[in-house]
Amino acid sequence: VYEYPKSHEAFKRALKVIPSGIYGHQGPSEGCYIPHDAFPLFSSRAKGSHFWDLDGNDYIDYMCGYGPNVLGYSDPDVDSAALEQLKKENCVTIPSSIMVDFAELLVDTVASADWAFFAKNGSDVTSLAVITARAATRRKKIVFFYGYYHGVYPWTQKLDYPGILEEDVMNNLYVNFNDFPALEKLFSDHKGEIAGLIAQPYMHGNFYDNYFPDDGYWQKVRKLCDDHQVVLIIDDVRAGFRLDLAGSDHYFGFQADLICFCKALANGYNVSALCGKESLRDVVSSLTFTGSYWMSAVPFAAGIACINKLKSLDAPRLFHDLGTKLTEGLTAAAANNGFHLIASGPPSLFYLRLADDDSLILHQQWIAECVKRGIFLTSHHNHFINAALTEEDIKKSVEIAEDAFHTLRK
Ligand code: PMP
Repeated sequence: VYEYPKSHEAFKRALKVIPSGIYGHQGPSEGCYIPHDAFPLFSSRAKGSHFWDLDGNDYIDYMCGYGPNVLGYSDPDVDSAALEQLKKENCVTIPSSIMVDFAELLVDTVASADWAFFAKNGSDVTSLAVITARAATRRKKIVFFYGYYHGVYPWTQKLDYPGILEEDVMNNLYVNFNDFPALEKLFSDHKGEIAGLIAQPYMHGNFYDNYFPDDGYWQKVRKLCDDHQVVLIIDDVRAGFRLDLAGSDHYFGFQADLICFCKALANGYNVSALCGKESLRDVVSSLTFTGSYWMSAVPFAAGIACINKLKSLDAPRLFHDLGTKLTEGLTAAAANNGFHLIASGPPSLFYLRLADDDSLILHQQWIAECVKRGIFLTSHHNHFINAALTEEDIKKSVEIAEDAFHTLRK
């Protein structure tokens, strides 16, 4: 099994010069990385479906940089498009016209999009969406579904989190996903006050089995938003382009007013996009919203190559098939050793949980045994499939998982 002396040495250095050493999901203080000593902390290179840590250990990677790795690390087509653009220009005083090419491609690809506005991170575009909804309606309140994640800006955080003010979250309203009567009641209790509803296309949060909208749910929500003139925002930052290249709203048979993309947009190059309906174009035009790097040309070139390649591969179908094969193999490996492994959510973004393990410790130990043997999974977060994953990778992953279950049983 793997050991991580170089990772731990680098982490000691990191703690001296970087707050918490590694921040965000990837930090060892976060709940996804338990037990902490089972995980590598720094990578050294990545190619296709694999990455290697600082100690040279090789992983088949099912986290995909938490989503951006959609075609495979260092995809040759995306990297050569980016490199060609880099030779010409990148971050310049006025934008490159490749920005227009990318916006045209998104408007052609995404069913609900009449325009595209680019930024860098998912949080940039979820925030832009909320500001747009408020500017369009001149109302304050935003509806969230419990179990949501829409980034890290203050409006998305909880009142008991350090540094968050009551004022930051006092206009947030919360309701359970799939409970349509509760949503109807919330809308009528706050008639004329709700600017927007922001939601992931299905529930893919941490620490619960991921689940889908009930039949007809989104269609009813769409109509309710229309009736109350509430802006319907879909946060497709995580699921976007893995379920449906036309958008996850299209996948579930409705149209959002605004849809947020980021992770799978450019295979790891830094760009996000808010796409939206014609009716909101002038509102977005009126906002004060931009950033130093938001019009950099290299990520636009990468994004064009990425979306075109996803189309030519029929990537959502591929992800579904690979994810199904993998999760069937993992659940069978569990059953062979007397465990019940539950895979939830779509196979392309599968979420894993060991049943009969309320303390979560067994699950965390199994994940740790897998990581130490070369498949990179995390506890309590969905995983991601990428297009470079091979049948051989899946076969090896199932063997490692089986070995890890065997160790767990002992
Ligand atoms: N929304 C969702 C659904 C996400 O998964 C994420 C990122 N995990 C975000 C928003 C925020 O994106 P970013 O981290 O790029 O700001």
